[in-house]
Amino acid sequence: MLPQASLSRLVSRAAVRSLRTAAAETIPSTSIKVLRVVDAVRQWRKPHMTNFRSVGLVPTMGALHEGHFSLIRAAARENHHVVVSIYVNPAQFGIKEDLASYPVTWDADVAALARLDREFADDGANLGRISAVFAPSTAEIYPSGFPGQEIDSKGSFVTITPVGEVLEGASRPTFFRGVATICMKLFNIVQPDRVYFGQKDVQQTVVIKRMVKDFMLPTEVVVCPTTRESDGLALSSRNVYLGTRRRHVAIVLSKALRAAQETYDCGKLDRNDVLGAANTVADTMLQAQMELPPNQRVTWEVDYISLADPDTLQEVDAVDPAKGAVLSGAIKMLPVEEAQNGEDLGHSGGPAVRLIDNIILPPKAQ
Ligand code: AMP
Repeated sequence: MLPQASLSRLVSRAAVRSLRTAAAETIPSTSIKVLRVVDAVRQWRKPHMTNFRSVGLVPTMGALHEGHFSLIRAAARENHHVVVSIYVNPAQFGIKEDLASYPVTWDADVAALARLDREFADDGANLGRISAVFAPSTAEIYPSGFPGQEIDSKGSFVTITPVGEVLEGASRPTFFRGVATICMKLFNIVQPDRVYFGQKDVQQTVVIKRMVKDFMLPTEVVVCPTTRESDGLALSSRNVYLGTRRRHVAIVLSKALRAAQETYDCGKLDRNDVLGAANTVADTMLQAQMELPPNQRVTWEVDYISLADPDTLQEVDAVDPAKGAVLSGAIKMLPVEEAQNGEDLGHSGGPAVRLIDNIILPPKAQ
């Protein structure tokens, strides 16, 4: 028999657990549950496991747009249940990055998920619907306390190297540690059959695939194509920082990558040829901007334009036609030098915005 003290501890733990899970909200006029604690997700997940109902997870940081919706649509086509997680993970922001101003649009996000779920209900081609949104707090996700955003922060981290150290990882040294750690947590909580990621963040897909392989995680990683604006700009939650003037010029990166792709399509494999085409576009567009007065021009710094091996993301001197390559880039759009009267400078007054994009160069038929 358990002593009285242990018994009451057990009872009170059970009471706390049922209090935390009983309070499950739903998004108004839908059956989408809003789950905020790990126990509630586990309780929701268990019967689907025993009934062999498949679950697809779409991890996001909210501020949802068509790029996210494309992943959710793919998940609904292929799974009985879709879980969308919305969590702005501080561990993947460097100490000097835009965590405090990152757009949080909860009401618009849940309204969009409700619309999307109605679309799924009307479309017989889908296997499933959006069953739950998992929106935890930082205290819930980091039960031993948030370890911090510094490079030398101590805590339980997942690191995937060297693939997480190049490109984005070189400029943002804690980024992929934060991404891999939160994804490992989300995968362990939701136990999805499939997880959905966008090609927009190509290095993230390579890091997550490597993590799934090396830690033998029982989930399939599905990568969906990049959703773009009609002028080619890749959709991103951060585009709201751009404002009208910088938004028009932000296509520089996709244009530069497209020029490099065309060079590859014409039969060139050499790094200087392929990347030369991209750099020419970027340089020409910057020169044209520099000829404008400060109250009209837009300037940027190129962080990298890369031609890399698709598995390791290490730079290559030439594309191996049997493997293809990943063409990717990152630029920092600088704040406008001189604002015009009443000009729309973008969210948070138009800070510097880091834009990333990529194109996968497919293998050539031998
Ligand atoms: P985020 O909320 O920015 O962390 O993104 C959540 C997921 O949406 C990630 O897998 C991203 O790669 C994906 N995503 C973001 N933008 C796009 C886009 N334009 N097209 C496709 N997927 C995207």
